Amino acid sequence: MKAIAYVGIATALALSAGASAQPGPAAKLSIVRLDCGNATVKNFDAFFSDTHEYPVGPRKITSSCYVVRHGSDVLLWDTGFPAALKGKSTDMGALIVRVDRTIPDQLATLGLKVSDIDIVGISHMHGDHTGQAADFPLAKLLIGKKDLEATTGPKDPFGPWRSVDAKVQVMAGSDIDVFGDGSVIVLNLPGHTPSHIALLVKLASGNVMLSGDLYHSTMARQLRGVPPFNTSRAETLASIDRFERLARSYRAKVIIQHEPADIAKLPAFPKEAR
Ligand SMILES: [Zn+2]
Repeated sequence: MKAIAYVGIATALALSAGASAQPGPAAKLSIVRLDCGNATVKNFDAFFSDTHEYPVGPRKITSSCYVVRHGSDVLLWDTGFPAALKGKSTDMGALIVRVDRTIPDQLATLGLKVSDIDIVGISHMHGDHTGQAADFPLAKLLIGKKDLEATTGPKDPFGPWRSVDAKVQVMAGSDIDVFGDGSVIVLNLPGHTPSHIALLVKLASGNVMLSGDLYHSTMARQLRGVPPFNTSRAETLASIDRFERLARSYRAKVIIQHEPADIAKLPAFPKEAR
């Protein structure tokens, strides 16, 4: 897809990340998973494998979002399907989508308001990750530069962040230390989309890596599967290589955001991992 030029977006790169609130290296860090919808993929193999190595037929995927608390700062990672889909099943062609609870519904259970979200981090531009982003217009948007550039148009999920003075931090090819103390790192892992990113969270109990859509299933990770709609097969494979090496270096627990089995890798909502 051809990148569309844009102007007026305030950018703050990795070097300035530490200029935000400074709870210091001992800031309490936690993560909790939110349910941001689910989908039945009618033909999982055709949809997700360009080498046709998966079983034929339907398979369910989940859409997971996460709240990362760092001291008094709150990061929302991904925003799932749109809240307008709540309470019904919607046939979108290749998928049947359902949303049971919105993000604000679940934030309320955690004692949080929409205005408490300081940062909305978006792994990539696809609609099952951006659906509720605009419901947090006062937060800072954290996203890959090319994905932000590629999503302009009438259905732009990033409308609140297109003004000159909007709070936006873009990943432009280098990892980002989100809070400036090395505890939460945005990882540059392009290929699924031009500026796809994943997240490393260094909890006291152990490191966690949230996949974004580098993988959509445990099978994909085992087989190094690449969906036919990825923007670059070569970049995807390079990103898989980097992600797996990082996971080994950090002895990280890898969580595939669309894999239903990986929900159990974190405590059940509303309990948080620390
Ligand atoms: Zn995706």
